[in-house]
Amino acid sequence: MKALTERDIRGSFINCSKGEAKRLHVPRDLDGRPWDDLDFLGWGDPGAPDRSYLVVERQDELVGVAMRFQPAQRGFLHRSMCSLCLTTHPRGGVSLMTARKSGPAGREGNSVGAYMCTDLACSLYLRGLKVPETGARFEESLTLEEQIDRTRQNLLAFIDKL
Ligand SMILES: [Zn+2]
Repeated sequence: MKALTERDIRGSFINCSKGEAKRLHVPRDLDGRPWDDLDFLGWGDPGAPDRSYLVVERQDELVGVAMRFQPAQRGFLHRSMCSLCLTTHPRGGVSLMTARKSGPAGREGNSVGAYMCTDLACSLYLRGLKVPETGARFEESLTLEEQIDRTRQNLLAFIDKL
């Protein structure tokens, strides 16, 4: 994806207020992100470990999503799979991310959830640039391009529900 600026990011959120978008944590190392190998930018908030954000290009616009999740607890799923990139991780590597719906439905408290890599590094797992702790990616017959495309479609399908 093309490199994003803090301004691009703050202007992209579809499911939080303008005030929240202005205040939320944006990574300070945007210049150092491997943009060529990213299908979307995902990050967490070091000051609020139950929050995550992602931004993806959809047609010609940027779509940002603010999400919350339950940090992994003891006895939680032993091992689980990211619904976007289909990487399997040991406990804690995958989390159920919930995103408030946009507009009135969100203000009424409706949200949508999906299991995702907790670090939102799906793009890097797909390309083998990051390896899950003891989990693994199963052998796929799809090419990397096809897997990237599938991950993107999975993510856009999630966003369509917001
Ligand atoms: Zn993933």
